[in-house]
Amino acid sequence: MNEKKRFERIVKGVALSPGIAVARICLLNDSRHSNVPDYTVESQDFGAEKERFYKARAVAKENVVKIAERVKLKVGEAEAGIFDAHVMILEDPQLQMDVEQLIEQNNMNAEAAIAETLDSYEMRLLEIDDEYIRERATDFGEIKRRLLDELGEKMTSHCDDGLCQRGHNRIIVAEELTPQLTVDLDTDSVMGFITERGGKNAHGAILARALGIPAVSGLSKIRDMVSCGMEILVNGTTGEVTLWPRETTVVKMREAEPEQIRMPVAVDPVDGLRVMSNISMPGEVSCAVHMKSEGIGLYRTEIELITGGSDYSEDSFYESYHKVYSENQGQPIAYRMFDIGSDKKLSGLDVPDERNPALGLRGARLLLKNKELLRMQARALARVSVHGDISVTYPMIIDVDQFLEIKQLFNDSIADMESGRIKHGVMFEVPSACLQADEIMDIADFGSVGTNDLAQYLFAADRDNELLADYYTPDHPVLWKMLEMVAAAGKSRGKTITVCGELAGDPKYITKLIDVGVSAVSVSVRMIPAVRAATKEHFLNKSKNKLNGER
Ligand code: PEP
Ligand code: MG
Repeated sequence: MNEKKRFERIVKGVALSPGIAVARICLLNDSRHSNVPDYTVESQDFGAEKERFYKARAVAKENVVKIAERVKLKVGEAEAGIFDAHVMILEDPQLQMDVEQLIEQNNMNAEAAIAETLDSYEMRLLEIDDEYIRERATDFGEIKRRLLDELGEKMTSHCDDGLCQRGHNRIIVAEELTPQLTVDLDTDSVMGFITERGGKNAHGAILARALGIPAVSGLSKIRDMVSCGMEILVNGTTGEVTLWPRETTVVKMREAEPEQIRMPVAVDPVDGLRVMSNISMPGEVSCAVHMKSEGIGLYRTEIELITGGSDYSEDSFYESYHKVYSENQGQPIAYRMFDIGSDKKLSGLDVPDERNPALGLRGARLLLKNKELLRMQARALARVSVHGDISVTYPMIIDVDQFLEIKQLFNDSIADMESGRIKHGVMFEVPSACLQADEIMDIADFGSVGTNDLAQYLFAADRDNELLADYYTPDHPVLWKMLEMVAAAGKSRGKTITVCGELAGDPKYITKLIDVGVSAVSVSVRMIPAVRAATKEHFLNKSKNKLNGER
């Protein structure tokens, strides 16, 4: 997988089962029977080959009966009927006769005889000019795979390093959505299905709809385009699949279709790493609470401002900020002051055209030039603070002096009004601030590392330019050295440093983050369960290693 910068890309397939899900991919190795073992069997071994077939059939039948029972309980009688039909096929004396005949007359091994028999049944149905009947043909393919599974290699994921979240909250990408695939997996933790083929009336699609799992098919080359661990947005209502969706794409979708989103199963907090949420819109707080988030570590307040048109005021800001406060069940919230500029332009602001906007008037610099906007936001936040403690974070701070200047401006803006306790923190996302982490953490209440921008400025590689992906490298040791420095500056002063860039939401980096001294992360809401699962695993491995070392 390309671990460097990821770029959004949309592909269109056939909508099979409505709903929307955003999660990481688990790519299934379901073409495992494309090379069916095929060898000559001598007459003295006919009995043994037939025995292998009978045994495989007995186990397959037992499994299908169990599945049918589960589906009956979970989905309904009618859907369970799909599997009753599979049992009938497995018990059909014609199937037995045909397989035995191929073993005895054509000297075939059990696998080859099974494959040839069931392929021929499937072909016969596929020749019939009726879509419904043609889609029933996949039942034979399904039974073939079941039997071959019992005779050899089981279905596996391509993933060997846990990037697909070890089976949790994942979107399955496979060649075909078969009924077994749909229900064999733990359906509570499957967030969606994407397949290369399979029609709307196929049994897998019927089951996906009954289970409420979004599904899209007809993406013929999708398995070549993706890899385990890749994040994907599947829209089973429109058939659109977005590879590496941008945060703004996900947020827009969540705002527009809240009831369509399939939420992952929440995982309880884990000692040793606080996991908070990054949000962009007030409506996301309910998802954060649902996912047992330990606070909002980054509220990107500018997104609502930029997307909401020019009709804003201190009152409209207050309304949004108070909504987040009141719905967050007393958990801490870090409101990031508007990070406008570069790719986040706010129309109507007096900002000259810039040749190099990422290095131009953005974040704290822009606020210092647009004091009225800063004042309006500060006053809205002060009104929220009357209800309880809040935190504010300043984006793109370059050094101590700039932090002191903007904090002073904030305090001057609210000097004439009632306010509660407001903590002031710094976004560490420009290398100069990281290099002054000790001095900054002497005066700041907390810090937040924005690795998205930090990588951009550290490696001089535009975060939005896909041609520079090779230079935008979260794995680079220099980035980790900076993270360690900032974490140490916070730790030695008893102040929290949260990492809130995309890197923090990637389970792959959790061990590394904990090892460099990070004790809090803030991630996309949907990534909370995966991050907690990785944290649990990290501490479990640690205690195992400790035990082994002591022996
Ligand atoms: C960052 O830069 O890592 C960050 C969290 O802020 P944003 O992505 O909004 O720039
Ligand atoms: Mg940033």
